[in-house]
Amino acid sequence: MTERTGRCLCGAVSFKIVAEPLATRVCWCRDCQHLAANGSVNVLVPTDGLTISGALAEYTKTADSGNVVTRQFCPNCGTQLFAKSTARPQLRVVRTGNLDEPSSIQPSMNIWAASAPSWACLDPALERVEQQPLAPKPSPNAGQA
Ligand SMILES: [Zn+2]
Ligand SMILES: [Zn+2]
Repeated sequence: MTERTGRCLCGAVSFKIVAEPLATRVCWCRDCQHLAANGSVNVLVPTDGLTISGALAEYTKTADSGNVVTRQFCPNCGTQLFAKSTARPQLRVVRTGNLDEPSSIQPSMNIWAASAPSWACLDPALERVEQQPLAPKPSPNAGQA
C-alpha cells in the first residue's frame, strides 16, 4: 500500500493517508469553484485511513447535492484541506493540491460538470458526470462501517 503525505501552505497542518483512495475526481460544483477558483481535485479515502496533525477550522454548509458538508481548513493560512459529508461519514475528501506528490494520484472523472464554467478545461478522456456521482464501490478492505 502506498503511503501519502501532505501539508497546508504554511505547514501548521500535516496529514498522512495510509489507505488507497476509493476515488479521485475533479469536482466542478459551485462550492468547489468558490474554494479553488476552478474545479477542485479530490481523493476519497476511508476516514480511518487518514491521520491529521494540527488544528483545523471548519465551515459547514448544505452542498448542491443536498448533503451537509463540513469543510476543514488551516486556521492560520486558510488552505482548504479536507471535507466530510453527512451522507458518507466513513469517507473523507482530501484536496490533492496539498499532497507532497500530487502526481501520485490520477483523477478518473469530472463531476458536477454541468456547473463548470464555459472556459473550463475538462479532460475528454475522463468519465463525465453532470451532477452528483454514485458512491464509489467499496474496496475489498474498506466499507465495513
Ligand atoms: Zn496552514
Ligand atoms: Zn465540489
